[in-house]
Amino acid sequence: MKSLSPIEMRHVEKHKFSLVLLFYLFGVVRSQVSPGVCRYPLGMSGGQIQDEDISASSQWSESTAARYGRLDFEEGDGAWCPEIIVEPDSLKEFLQIDLRSLHFITLVGTQGRHAGGIGNEFAQMYKIKYSRDGSRWISWRNRQGRQVIEGNRNAYDIVLKDLEPPIIARFVRFMPMTDHSMNVCMRVELYGCEWLDGLVSYNAPAGQHMTFEGLQVHLNDSVYDGAMGYSMTEGLGQLTDGMAGLDDFTLSHVYSVWPGYDYVGWSNESLPDDYVEIMFEFDRIRNFTTMKVHCNNMFTRSVKMFRQVVCYFRSESDWEPTPVTFSPVMDDVNPSARFVIVSLHNHMASAIKCQYYFADTWMMFSEITFQSDTAMYNTTLAPPDTDPPTSTQPDDDPTHKVDDSNTRILIGCLVAIIFILVAIIVIILWRQVWQKMLEKSETFPYNNNSSSNHSSSSSEQESNSTYERIFPLGADYQEPSRLLRKLPEFSQVMEEADGTSTAPKSPPVSMQEGVPHYAEADIVNLQGVTGSNTYAAPAVTMDLLSGKDVAVEEFPRKLLTFKEKLGEGQFGEVHLCEVEGMQEFMNEDFSFDTNPNMPVLVAVKMLRADANKNARNDFLKEIKIMSRLKDPNIVHLLGVCVCCDPLCMITEYMENGDLNQFLSRHEPEGQVAPLSTAPTIRYNNLHYMVTQIASGMKYLSSLNFVHRDLATRNCLVGKNYTIKIADFGMSRNLYSGDYYRIQGRAVLPIRWMSWESILLGKFTTASDVWAFGVTLWETLTLCKEQPYSQLSDEQVIENTGEFFRDQKRQIYLPQPAICPDPIYKLMLSCWQRNAKERPSFQNIYHTLLECQV
Ligand code: AMP
Repeated sequence: MKSLSPIEMRHVEKHKFSLVLLFYLFGVVRSQVSPGVCRYPLGMSGGQIQDEDISASSQWSESTAARYGRLDFEEGDGAWCPEIIVEPDSLKEFLQIDLRSLHFITLVGTQGRHAGGIGNEFAQMYKIKYSRDGSRWISWRNRQGRQVIEGNRNAYDIVLKDLEPPIIARFVRFMPMTDHSMNVCMRVELYGCEWLDGLVSYNAPAGQHMTFEGLQVHLNDSVYDGAMGYSMTEGLGQLTDGMAGLDDFTLSHVYSVWPGYDYVGWSNESLPDDYVEIMFEFDRIRNFTTMKVHCNNMFTRSVKMFRQVVCYFRSESDWEPTPVTFSPVMDDVNPSARFVIVSLHNHMASAIKCQYYFADTWMMFSEITFQSDTAMYNTTLAPPDTDPPTSTQPDDDPTHKVDDSNTRILIGCLVAIIFILVAIIVIILWRQVWQKMLEKSETFPYNNNSSSNHSSSSSEQESNSTYERIFPLGADYQEPSRLLRKLPEFSQVMEEADGTSTAPKSPPVSMQEGVPHYAEADIVNLQGVTGSNTYAAPAVTMDLLSGKDVAVEEFPRKLLTFKEKLGEGQFGEVHLCEVEGMQEFMNEDFSFDTNPNMPVLVAVKMLRADANKNARNDFLKEIKIMSRLKDPNIVHLLGVCVCCDPLCMITEYMENGDLNQFLSRHEPEGQVAPLSTAPTIRYNNLHYMVTQIASGMKYLSSLNFVHRDLATRNCLVGKNYTIKIADFGMSRNLYSGDYYRIQGRAVLPIRWMSWESILLGKFTTASDVWAFGVTLWETLTLCKEQPYSQLSDEQVIENTGEFFRDQKRQIYLPQPAICPDPIYKLMLSCWQRNAKERPSFQNIYHTLLECQV
């Protein structure tokens, strides 16, 4: 072999570094699919799916052809509509999408035909069929076996449905259904990500049944989509659904299903050999690096991970004679379920057959994933200026050619990405500086003329930056994605990727625990999922402007007289204004406690004159939400000015501002320093205030409304310690019950967020209860410090990981000095790991009433 000169060696080192970097990047990208993160719109609304890949069983006319079935598009006659009326129970019609390659699909979105108000056709229900090869079609069923998915209730709203279990397919069909004969039109989107594993099926012995201390544990593969008999053939199922099982196999963390649901398991007593053989078929020949097997290890119940695995490879028609054999270190100490990582040593194959040997009576797997990459084949390093070592290989070895060219392309791409990122950072910085300059010249904008002058001088680009910039609302909001990388699990995965780990080769903790990957990408994806920037807002705006659906009226802005600036939020300034004739304008159900002949004080929240379309639509959405909320402990929307700019919402004025600032100014009674002039507040008053917050939240939760940003900063204080919950800035992003979006950035109030909101992106009433616990703590510490002030943002995220693991290492907020024991107990119950074990707002409210002193 040719020896290399020092210069060549340096080239090699440079190359090596690039490869390590690439390997690291790929390691991150190519970890097993996480359903919580894999929620990208696949291109119906974004246009990445080509017209020719959208087909249908029939069409009503050329202008309602399949290609018009794109979610959130108004082209043609506004949707895909089949030729004939859809009859109940008929499943003849379908809209089909060809994704061109296998995808992991976690979510679907549907919409009817609105066509600017002319259309009113939609599918009340639908079914989904999918195929990986275009010939075998499989009907999707949920985990309870139901096929029918609830669809739309009107022609314009997007309805999103999680696919539980997710689908792995190239072709998907939406089949509209109705309960009576009706015209049906559909617009659709699929959400997910590319199925990088490339696995098209696995064949395995059918999962078995265990009787354990009288408990029936079903270890079958209940979502397997192939043929089922004594063995399972030609399908995918629970081993590829992205859900890693819990340590205790009798429990299932997400679904109310039977014991053993998460696992497929076998007993060595009922199998002829001492192993379970699973055969995996792939879409093409791949270069396999690793296999990850998520195994249960409850050795106290005779369940252990495999003691050895022997894998055979087939690339053409024959199996390779030499298998890969791997024996993990057995663990009789830690009963946690874990990912066991098996190196496959860059074997090229389109099928793999693995024999997993029993270490105990039972063996249970919940996930098996494969990491492969043709481009990364061959670790031999070729300096660019020297003869590549591959040149000594026979010319007909295709793999070496692939390696060299692909490595160069990848390095080129990486450099290009770095350049683009640097350019984006420079542009963002430049825009922020520019925006600061603009703000300085901002004028008071009730007068339309002045504001329109102002906005006409601001470009759309500038407005964008304003909206982006105003989202970080101070130190309370962080980007969890950046911080999540600090979780020890992530570092360990990284260490392993770049080979710096000196630790013995045991499975990394994250693999064992299956910590869900939640990242900025998740939020940004969800942004798309919730209807993206272009979606829905026009409909909402229309509703709003036409007065339909919204119980609040346009208020003549000339009657508002500016008094002072109260504060500044994400949309712009909040002003105190005096207004005449407000009482006559209002419905009878709201009265001001002032002399009817006197001008009334109101708070006017205005949208910045230079706000972009998205900010504008979100502002209108917040109005829409607030207009529907009527409760003594929710801030009341009195009127709006939306007929012209700047958009304003007029709310009741709360003279003591927000609760955070209010409490920070006070000291607890009896604990004041001798010379302090700070006003004092009694525990009773604090208790009264939190009871009102609980009452307001009880009302919101009764509407299934999730606030998502409950904190003292978002509660307003009126006379006599009255409290009203305000700021629906994050909840307005709620489109369907489960999703939310945040403008472009994952900026979230991590110190108030439940572990599942941070790690899984799940916002529910139970996560509002968590935030209530933190709000209660803030109130009883009089907002003298931030929650977990001794922890950095990174440590807060690490602590979130501890809440997830629940191994008694999580740090709770301490009992405030003035907090009675029962109230601290209540606070702690809000931070239960299991969301179901947290109290409801109804319970919280009653507990607080009972504990009144
Ligand atoms: P927001 O845009 O809702 O975050 O409001 C920004 C700030 O304006 C708040 O923190 C309050 O200090 C103040 N503010 C908002 N609404 C009112 C109101 N209705 N009454 C009194 N102050 C308010």
